[in-house]
Amino acid sequence: MLYIGSHVSYKKDTQLLGSLNEALSYGSNAFMFYTGAPQNTLRDKINDMLTIEALNKMKENDLLLENVIVHAPYIVNLANNKEQDKYEFAQNFLRQEIDRCELLGIKYMVLHPGSAVGLDDKVALNNIIKGLNNILLKEDTTMILLETMAGKGTELGKTIDELKYIIDNIEYKDKIGVCLDTCHLNDSGIDLKSFDSYLDEFDNKIGIDKIHCVHINDSKNELGSHKDRHENIGLGTIGFDTLLGVIYNPRLDNIPKILETPYVDKTYAPYKEEIKMIRDKSFNANLYHDIINN
Ligand code: FE
Ligand code: FE
Ligand code: ZN
Repeated sequence: MLYIGSHVSYKKDTQLLGSLNEALSYGSNAFMFYTGAPQNTLRDKINDMLTIEALNKMKENDLLLENVIVHAPYIVNLANNKEQDKYEFAQNFLRQEIDRCELLGIKYMVLHPGSAVGLDDKVALNNIIKGLNNILLKEDTTMILLETMAGKGTELGKTIDELKYIIDNIEYKDKIGVCLDTCHLNDSGIDLKSFDSYLDEFDNKIGIDKIHCVHINDSKNELGSHKDRHENIGLGTIGFDTLLGVIYNPRLDNIPKILETPYVDKTYAPYKEEIKMIRDKSFNANLYHDIINN
């Protein structure tokens, strides 16, 4: 079964219910949101009435809670402990983010593993491991999904081996998984035309059963560029057919696929149209042009 959606906004006054309504308006049966602005850590209290209303509406619409994903803000960095107060803040914040997921009933929270910024990669990876082991609790029902990264700057999590090293050293193995990102994989040097050989290696080293989410983005940059700039589906260097090969790969059946493609003309969210192209398995070369001109 194909579960497809996009990242959606999350607003203070409507919270999960607002995010759900936006996702439904695109024809999604999965979605992802940040519990506030992705670039800061200011967060509002969860309103239980809105949560209950949202959960009921999900049931009515057959949208499964395991296909609703939270993305942790990308400014928290568990990899660097040069400033102890920042390292501790990152841990405390992520712990609170997990608590918010628990309150909302969310099963999966995507996390960028972190950037070494001046530290040796191994030291930085060990900081990530230590930070995660400090905050993960045995009773948690939310799982952290480490995202595959492009390797921009000093980003970690750009290879299967780095992800494997983190996962192997996490105490509660059932609390840790992986989120693939097609743009990041491409930019890290993985040719998605041979996606099955990537999955073979992933399965040998980590296990395909650890993949619980896939971000579907085309890329503005060439294979191995280590850049990380998302492009609309079919307009980038990966291309529509190769992305369809990932989306419909039978080994990732039932895993939620989430679009994080840019707004068209910076103003129009193209997710309804992109989802339709994906469901129809048919690329419309005029789509983005038509959106701009309507
Ligand atoms: Fe991400
Ligand atoms: Fe992503
Ligand atoms: Zn990205």
